[in-house]
Amino acid sequence: LSSFKTIFITGGAGFIGSHVVREFVTNLPKTTIVNLDALTYAGNLENLKDVEHLPNYRFERVDITNTVALAEVFNRYTPDAVVHLAAESHVDRSITDPNAFIQTNVMGTANLLNLCRTIWKFNPEHAHGRFSLEERQNLFYHISTDEVYGSLGEKGLFTETTPYDPKSPYSASKAASDHLVRSYGNTYGLPYILSNCSNNYGPNHFPEKLIPLAINQIINEKPIPIYGDGDYTRDWLYVVDHAKAIFQIFHEARTGETYNIGGFNEWKNIDLIRELISQMDKKLRRPEGYSLKLMEFVKDRPGHDKRYAIDASKLNRELGWKPSVTFEQGLSKTIDWFLENREWLDNVTSGEYQKYYESHYNN
Ligand code: NAD
Repeated sequence: LSSFKTIFITGGAGFIGSHVVREFVTNLPKTTIVNLDALTYAGNLENLKDVEHLPNYRFERVDITNTVALAEVFNRYTPDAVVHLAAESHVDRSITDPNAFIQTNVMGTANLLNLCRTIWKFNPEHAHGRFSLEERQNLFYHISTDEVYGSLGEKGLFTETTPYDPKSPYSASKAASDHLVRSYGNTYGLPYILSNCSNNYGPNHFPEKLIPLAINQIINEKPIPIYGDGDYTRDWLYVVDHAKAIFQIFHEARTGETYNIGGFNEWKNIDLIRELISQMDKKLRRPEGYSLKLMEFVKDRPGHDKRYAIDASKLNRELGWKPSVTFEQGLSKTIDWFLENREWLDNVTSGEYQKYYESHYNN
């Protein structure tokens, strides 16, 4: 399936990255898949327990802001493709500590691009980094977010040509990294692909984000914080469907292209929490509506975007991709996973998961 011998996946110990590593490592047994991750608070190798024994999987603990360490792994493996997910990803954290976002999301991406430029022999005359499937020998696939487009009113959808209008330090840093990737395509002929995805949810989601946080709070009968009046609207995609979309785009898309990925699936936060409570009260055999009392409205986040909604029709039209589950089905699978993996949740919330690396990789 893949003509590539060695693929780097950055941020592979994170929420989405771990699903992407699983997709690549199990479907491409003849390709070496190297997971490059610094293991910040968000990186957890327990997410990959089921695949880490596979002979084509490697893990390298590397910080993408460390140019020396990064150059060393590039020289050792000479990857022919990079799928780049490593990032600081939590909007609230970007408001309290924007610098970490600028360092990792902007400088870290620039470091990766510079190394690809050094080891790959792409032709600067090849305008916009455009190569057909047959021609391409290298690929830089950058994973980004729909938050770069800013906020929508009641109507309309983000398309691939919507002008960028990021509002938080997180989305601004991701927007900067997207621009850098395209500029390396335009200027140097870097063969790249970019995709911008809506909010993901599913197994292994760190419980600082809305859905896993709410699941954890409902299990423990603690308050569920909801920003403002709960009126914020997001499009949600089951993380496994995102990983499958990335795998398909990686193999089937022309370079120099951008794809929006989304679930065609908009929910107001308040309705989403109600749906979650309804499903969880049933699964936990609690009386109907029992957990509604846990909803607690809290002071809004500054610069909060009102509505995101993504038009993923280009991906559907060109590559035939569509989500495999509805939101209600994906949510049900997600709740089941969290109920069956309470140890994972306890380890993450207590910080215990950080010991996994020491006990499995450092002896
Ligand atoms: P995450 O926070 O769960 O994981 C990020 C991973 O990157 C972690 O394993 C972390 O250890 C690693 N990392 C962070 N800084 C690093 C550094 N300096 N060097 C090396 N590794 C580092 O994030 P996620 O939710 O899985 O998001 C992954 C990517 O997808 C990000 O680029 C994000 O912008 C994008 N994205 C996320 C969503 C979403 O809903 N979560 C939606 C669209 C796009």
